[in-house]
Amino acid sequence: MKIYDILLKNGTIIDPSNNINSKLDIAISSTKISKVSKSIDETKSKQTIDASDLIICPGLIDLHAHSFGYWEAIFPDEMCLPFGTTTMLDAGGPGWKTFDRMKDDVIRKSKTRVFSLLNIVGSGMIMDGEQNVSDMDYEATAAKINERKDMLVGVKVAHFEANSWEAIKRGKKAAEDSGTFMMVDQNPISGRNMEVLLDKYMTSGDILTHVYAWGKPILDNNKEVYKYFFEARKKGIIFDLGHGAGSFSFSMAKPAIDQGFEPDTISTDHHRESLLTNHSNMPNCMSKMMALGISLNDVIKKSTYIPSKILNRPELGHIGEGSEADIAVLKIHNGKFGLIDNGLTGNRKLTTDKIIENQITIKAGKIVWDKEGYSYENYTNTPSPSYKDIE
Ligand SMILES: [Zn+2]
Repeated sequence: MKIYDILLKNGTIIDPSNNINSKLDIAISSTKISKVSKSIDETKSKQTIDASDLIICPGLIDLHAHSFGYWEAIFPDEMCLPFGTTTMLDAGGPGWKTFDRMKDDVIRKSKTRVFSLLNIVGSGMIMDGEQNVSDMDYEATAAKINERKDMLVGVKVAHFEANSWEAIKRGKKAAEDSGTFMMVDQNPISGRNMEVLLDKYMTSGDILTHVYAWGKPILDNNKEVYKYFFEARKKGIIFDLGHGAGSFSFSMAKPAIDQGFEPDTISTDHHRESLLTNHSNMPNCMSKMMALGISLNDVIKKSTYIPSKILNRPELGHIGEGSEADIAVLKIHNGKFGLIDNGLTGNRKLTTDKIIENQITIKAGKIVWDKEGYSYENYTNTPSPSYKDIE
């Protein structure tokens, strides 16, 4: 009897939350992982894919991307599924006034699992609007999050330019009143610096994104990581990559990682410009972290299990038996490759000998991306047209 729908055979499974990093078969029945074992009988599966030389890991979780509200936003399926991302977090595109539109037009229309942060600004991530303190209603923001806890997981405070902590204070209040966390993207300015932000205004579980941005230097003049970053990490603040088109500089990332300051989570900050200029999809960001010395196992952990904990979705982020069948099937290419960064002084590159590329994406047991037709029959099996009906 065919008890499995899809069987992935001979791949290397890397599932950090279950401490698995070995050659195993994995079978899917309906929307769940039904078996992980040394050898699973092919005759019991409706479909079998040979995953030799491929890495099988939990569907990637992008903790910072833009699918709504921002003029450079991209529809989730196009920016996620080709790259192995099965779950994304929209980083504050909607505000409490616009979220219902996002829910209907984006979240409910996507194959990708989409969660969102609510911008502290009621109108959402419209650039000038993010300076409008009178539109930062923390009570209405918290109320909206409490109403839609199935989709909304926290608050975003971003791009506020005034010499004031008001946006952060209101964002924090909304997070507290909704029992969630706050993600912050705020450039330091004189009188409103990063040390005070991390020390006084952010608490355990809050996320600082764009950790290696040139405009938010993690390094002092001597290229050493500021001590207060380590102290903030000790206190429970989470540091997210948030690559984007202006927020990831190798000149910050390399010394910081060499000094032991790795990102907690790997995310793209995907939007039109970052996709075109930096190709900053999830496997690209993961390749960059590998090129800077983080192991493949840890890179996958920071792109699956850790973000699933932050989203508080324990059914995601791992591929143990009984878990949701969200899977990315990856290939490691060896050769010579250029990886592109960014910053306020332009784009530069780092050359590496290894990159990760996504091959197959499975979301809730369905193949939603198959780059080279692993799951398809050869074209010679195409049936003949029915000539008697047309001649
Ligand atoms: Zn962003």
